Amino acid sequence: MTHIELPRTELFINGEWCPAKGGTFDVENPTDGSTITTLESADASDVDRAVDAARQAFDSGPWSRLTGLERGRLLNGLADLVEQHAERFAALEALDVGKPYLDALVVDVDLAVKTFRHFAGWADKVHGATIPVPDHMGRPRLSYTERVPVGVVGAITPWNAPTMITSWKLASALAAGCTVVLKPAEDAPLVSQLLAELVDAAGFPPGVLNVVNGPGHVTGAALTAHPGVDKLSFTGSPEVGRLIARAAADSFKAVTLELGGKSPQIIFADADVEALAPVAATSVFANSGQTCAAGTRILVHRSRVDDVTSALAEQASRQRLGDPFDAATTMGSLINAGQRDRVMGYIESGLAEGAEVVTGGRAPARAGYFVEPTLFVGTNELRIARQEIFGPVGTIIPFDDPEEAIRLANATEYGLAAVIWTRDINAAMSAARGLKVGAVWVNSWGAPDPGLPWGGMKTSGVGRELGLSGLLANTEERLVNIVY
Ligand code: NAD
Repeated sequence: MTHIELPRTELFINGEWCPAKGGTFDVENPTDGSTITTLESADASDVDRAVDAARQAFDSGPWSRLTGLERGRLLNGLADLVEQHAERFAALEALDVGKPYLDALVVDVDLAVKTFRHFAGWADKVHGATIPVPDHMGRPRLSYTERVPVGVVGAITPWNAPTMITSWKLASALAAGCTVVLKPAEDAPLVSQLLAELVDAAGFPPGVLNVVNGPGHVTGAALTAHPGVDKLSFTGSPEVGRLIARAAADSFKAVTLELGGKSPQIIFADADVEALAPVAATSVFANSGQTCAAGTRILVHRSRVDDVTSALAEQASRQRLGDPFDAATTMGSLINAGQRDRVMGYIESGLAEGAEVVTGGRAPARAGYFVEPTLFVGTNELRIARQEIFGPVGTIIPFDDPEEAIRLANATEYGLAAVIWTRDINAAMSAARGLKVGAVWVNSWGAPDPGLPWGGMKTSGVGRELGLSGLLANTEERLVNIVY
């Protein structure tokens, strides 16, 4: 990758690129600490303008008059443009996040294109139901529901998978007929700028998408508190999720919260360890562990702990840390110095609490915020097993019987995802039924598919994105009773 064309730096409001009143902020390359570019930073008055534009487009602009079929055509056009610019998206994501370019291209950008296509297909299929009910005061009644767009959606995104997660929020909201004000993560805002360019090029009317960059406590907080926003769609940490939910309560905004995880992988005694090792390791090390569904609690039947430990250590030894644009690299950097220090703090706490380190555990002496793939053997009581690290750190935890495995799997405040590794379908199905999580994988693990509901239980969140559930989460149900 020799030259990467950087996107525009201004705010995108009402179909125009405009300067911000909140100053600027630098965007850092996490693999060497250099500054990639400097973006404009929205203050509360900029957020007001963005929400006004989204309100106008929703309440009385051309967007409100388009049919579902026309919205679907625009979304398919946007999917085509994202696909045409796939390499630029992947390059910007690799540069901004520090993740391998090929991962960004093959996973993130590919799934973003599929997400826009999936929701393009829903746009003319948003409908209610006719519900049989008894006569009303002796007269027949016809009762039906309509699904109407919820209105202006304030979308706030994290930095770990910006192309993919932004596509989830935009595609579902636009398909439902909503308009959007997007506040990207300040650590990885570049792909959202490119997306705004393409939304414009695809012919979406002004105000349908508005992008306001800036710090969470300023720009994000202004969006969250804004009375003109009808729904908040947030992906990020539980700490900020709580702030968003509290702010939403003041004006009874709808909320979808996609928060963190501490997902278990349960490896039963009969599992094919050789076959599962590459996927189980990917679940811990992909994106340097900065994935919300990372399977970092590796619960292993005691009879297989040695096999699994050596197979996963072997997978860790195959990881190549380095330049995201080098095709041999399998793991890039963490997002910033704070995240690197946080992950190293967890590794130190694992050692201090008596966990046995199998491999890794160091931050290589080089520029950028790299951490080695790290595996511990320990217990579910350790801090490294209880708290979300968001780094390439997994803990192998022995169990003795299936009941204990399910108890340990559920012994966490989180409930996002779980993986079950077994050749016994009965064991898999009864384990799946016992897990308090939003998504279970049996004998594999991967990124969410746009057609399937995605979200968590407990501290992992509220509501679902993607698939029909994700579409309906951007609608309100209106009931009509006709008495005749
Ligand atoms: P974060 O909570 O720090 O930030 C997320 C977003 O919230 C950013 O855009 C940030 O600017 C904004 N923000 C911060 N303070 C705010 C405030 N006071 N008001 C409004 N907005 C504010 O999260 P992060 O560090 O960017 O992302 C990592 C977290 O995201 C992890 O916990 C991870 O598990 C979670 N995550 C969850 C999913 C999922 O689908 N469940 C997917 C990816 C990441």
